[in-house]
Amino acid sequence: MKKVTILIPCYNEQESLLTLYARLKLLMDANVSYCWEILFVNDGSKDNTIHIIKQLHYKDSRISYVDLSRNYGKEAAMLAGFDYATGDCMVIMDADLQHPPELIPGMLMLWEEGYDDVYAKRKSRGKESWMRKQFSLLYYKILQKTTRVEILQNVGDFRLLDRKCIDVLRTLRESQRYTKGMFCWIGFKKKEIEFEQCDRLAGTSSWNFWSLFSLAIEGITSFTTAPLRLSTVVGFFISIIAFIYMCYILAKTLIYGDPVQGFPTLMIVILFLGGVQLLSLGIIGEYLGRIFYETKNRPVYVVREYSGEIKN
Ligand code: UDP
Ligand code: MG
Repeated sequence: MKKVTILIPCYNEQESLLTLYARLKLLMDANVSYCWEILFVNDGSKDNTIHIIKQLHYKDSRISYVDLSRNYGKEAAMLAGFDYATGDCMVIMDADLQHPPELIPGMLMLWEEGYDDVYAKRKSRGKESWMRKQFSLLYYKILQKTTRVEILQNVGDFRLLDRKCIDVLRTLRESQRYTKGMFCWIGFKKKEIEFEQCDRLAGTSSWNFWSLFSLAIEGITSFTTAPLRLSTVVGFFISIIAFIYMCYILAKTLIYGDPVQGFPTLMIVILFLGGVQLLSLGIIGEYLGRIFYETKNRPVYVVREYSGEIKN
């Protein structure tokens, strides 16, 4: 019998877990031709999440869990899930029921047809401001233009992955993770299905403007060095313009003398160049920071407790 792992990273999800389990139980009981495993990764929740997971684990042997030692973020929690999943395929979904479990049988059917990565694409982005939608559109355009892998818009982490994909993803152990890009990077046979994303069942999304902004930077810096190239190109053009202007000033001074003038020009040039230099330094710094984190080679997450026999 083929084994299906459902990976659910949880951070402060005590209100959703029981409903989620009830919906998953219906699904599992209706599809007995598969062997099921629900793998909860508790990402250092501060509420009762881990107790609820443990209760479910004692009640239902299909449930296992990994308890991380603190909050490492969803990206790290997913890697923990990749490491501890035992299934022949894996479905990743959110704990907040934004991803309807009812889609899973359809995904499994496509998997049986031979697809390795069945990803769910949101039909609409739901309740989001106009500004945010435009930003997101622009961001993906830039990302797509500058990276060699196609990183898909409106596709989140809700997807089914074959064992081979999981094994490859496990080898990508960078600490600054952008899993969404990795799914595209690994390739394999992909298939898209569409779904309507529901609203969060309870609680609030853990993403705010800054965390989204830093994930966006993560996406760019971990998949392309285009910003570095851009600062080289900008620097190059500014140097050419500066050189021409320099020749002009030199000639003018030699011919007409130097009646000290041009304070506004001087200020503008100094300020503008200062800005460009700082920006370029910042870009270099972003990459340097990434190198700094990677060279430390720390584990991406630390496990406090795993419910099964230690596998790795
Ligand atoms: N999550 C996590 N660690 C975190 C933040 C979130 O494991 O540090 C989990 C969370 O419990 C949920 C999923 O990641 O299952 C998606 O989180 P959220 O709903 O906050 O994100 P959104 O749906 O707004 O993208
Ligand atoms: Mg959510």
